Amino acid sequence: MCAPSLRTRRALCAGVVVFSAAAACARPAATAQVATPVHTAGARAIGEPERADPFQLFYPTDRVDWPGPNAYRSATGAPGPAYWQQRADYTIAATLDTAGGGTVSGQLTIRYTNNSPDTLRFVWLQLDQNLYRPGSRGSSMNAADSRWGVRGFKGGYELSDVRVDNRPVAPKVDDTMMRLDLETPLAPGGGRATIALHYRFAVPEHGSDRMGRDGTLYEIAQWYPRMAVYDDVRGWNTDPYLGQGEFYLEYGDIDYSVTAPAGYVIAGSGVLQNPQDVLTASQRERLARARTLTAEPGRAESVAAVIARDEAGAARGRAVPGTKTWHFRAEHVRDVAWAGAPDFRWDATSWNGILCQAFYQLDKAHRAWESAAEQTCWSMRTYSTLFYPYPYPQATSVAGPVGGMEYPMFVMVHYGSDDPSSIFSTIDHEHGHEWFPMTVGSNERRYAWMDEGFNTYINAFSNERRYPGTSAYSAYLADWRQAVEQRTQAPLMTRPDWVDARALGAIAYRKPAVALLTLRNHVVGAEPFDRAFREYARRWAFRHPTPGDFFRTIENVSGMDLAWYWRSFWYTTDVLDIAIDSAVTRTTGGATLATMYLHRNTSVPFPVEARLRFADGSVRDVRFPVDLWARPNTGNRIEATVEVPTRVVGVRLWPDGTVPDFVPANDTWGDPPPAAAVGSVTSAR
Ligand SMILES: [Zn+2]
Repeated sequence: MCAPSLRTRRALCAGVVVFSAAAACARPAATAQVATPVHTAGARAIGEPERADPFQLFYPTDRVDWPGPNAYRSATGAPGPAYWQQRADYTIAATLDTAGGGTVSGQLTIRYTNNSPDTLRFVWLQLDQNLYRPGSRGSSMNAADSRWGVRGFKGGYELSDVRVDNRPVAPKVDDTMMRLDLETPLAPGGGRATIALHYRFAVPEHGSDRMGRDGTLYEIAQWYPRMAVYDDVRGWNTDPYLGQGEFYLEYGDIDYSVTAPAGYVIAGSGVLQNPQDVLTASQRERLARARTLTAEPGRAESVAAVIARDEAGAARGRAVPGTKTWHFRAEHVRDVAWAGAPDFRWDATSWNGILCQAFYQLDKAHRAWESAAEQTCWSMRTYSTLFYPYPYPQATSVAGPVGGMEYPMFVMVHYGSDDPSSIFSTIDHEHGHEWFPMTVGSNERRYAWMDEGFNTYINAFSNERRYPGTSAYSAYLADWRQAVEQRTQAPLMTRPDWVDARALGAIAYRKPAVALLTLRNHVVGAEPFDRAFREYARRWAFRHPTPGDFFRTIENVSGMDLAWYWRSFWYTTDVLDIAIDSAVTRTTGGATLATMYLHRNTSVPFPVEARLRFADGSVRDVRFPVDLWARPNTGNRIEATVEVPTRVVGVRLWPDGTVPDFVPANDTWGDPPPAAAVGSVTSAR
């Protein structure tokens, strides 16, 4: 989804009215918040963990997030030799009835394959629309007028004719989850069951900022019962849908059709299977031409109009009797979503065989959307080139009331303004999710940093390339700092539903992005980190990685033990604050040595980078490994000694300005070299 607003920029998503109204966000009832004393050594809030073990000598992070290696998940961070995962293939025949605010009804068939080594006597499904049932858990967690609130809407799924292998079964519904007991147990190693049911729900106007409606425009997601994930880590993943936490879904092929009023155009995940039934000959011709184009920023002629502006205008208000059925198929996906309106403009272009599309109503979506198809291709090209090839045949952006939300091959982005840059950040962010978590299928409901955080990290690469000379670093860091100062932080490992809504942008998005950029640029190094990050995507594409799989992959590929880093930035709310007290130059045995006296004010160790200024005016950068902080009896103070040509007269720590030391005031000594302007954090370096 799109990030809650940054303090220093307007917002990643244009729906700032909703997201910046932080006071309207409900505070979760049972948060695992940890108050964060930042600058004061020693003072700890009640309940905060012991902080004297930054290298985890006594408290390793071997919990469920990072279990010991086994046959399913290997010590290298790769899937193990016995790795398995379930498969869910869906067929859905749905109807959108636009009368009375709109309802979606459908017949769903799921072919579920049990690849686990376990016999399953029951299965769990997700009923996300039940968030809108009066009294749902999510409605008690989030105020009605908050971003995740239900705005007084009363909805939820109506289910009927629920069957397993064609035998009727009585569903056990618990809030947004449903258990089906199996008359015949599902055999391990490939046993199959067919689940079928009929469903119906009224479309909420504000669907927790992840779906909804605006006049005649429908953005439809979380729109059919979906299998819960059964995995080797937790068994059935039954964390309910509360609003703030996103999704965890199985892979499979999804064949779906949407029957809508005949005047409607439907855009969706997957590939349209029946263009001859729903598109005119000239629309099909224009679409074919779009496949021959290559999107180029600033070149309008590199985009084809499948439905041009005047055609969309003429379609508005024109009564077309009857219905049309749009048939889509999406392969190797964890979900599908779609949108419909009678007056969509439809632009298309392509890159490397990927069709990039934009659907928007110009009276609401503004002129920025005339760049949206090209911007969509920008994300495809950038992330395919830098991280992992985009695995799907098309990518679609739709303008609507949802601030920003992602589904396979399909994203919803807010309307924007006349300035193309007004939608770029959100289009690019939502399509970045095609890599995390659509391709690399982590558990979003537990670990927002593995999708929002990784995505915000890769967005920095895209932004710096789209707008050379800019850097996302300062804005990211400012957002993290704000959460620290407001004492709304929680460790990154906190499940997102338990993160203070005001801090979600910092904890789910920007702190992990800063932590990854810092790890890349100041701990591991750009080349090994980029290699390790790509290897993580390659290993876990279309699979279910856990935090430990990511940590182990980065450590194994980079060849570094980073337990101290994960603990510092993922498992605690402490921040980096290392200070220089003084520097002394002396000559001994013919060598001139400078010793810096350093101390750290928090539990977080870090390799020391310093720029030294000498008496003759020259400068030199020096670096000391993090291991200095681990030597016996050093406590929070260390001495770092280096041979120098002449007397040191000034020192500046972190001279390139992209290490997140929260107290810059104690980072200099003497007559320090000047601070450098913050530059690119995504270059090869
Ligand atoms: Zn997102």
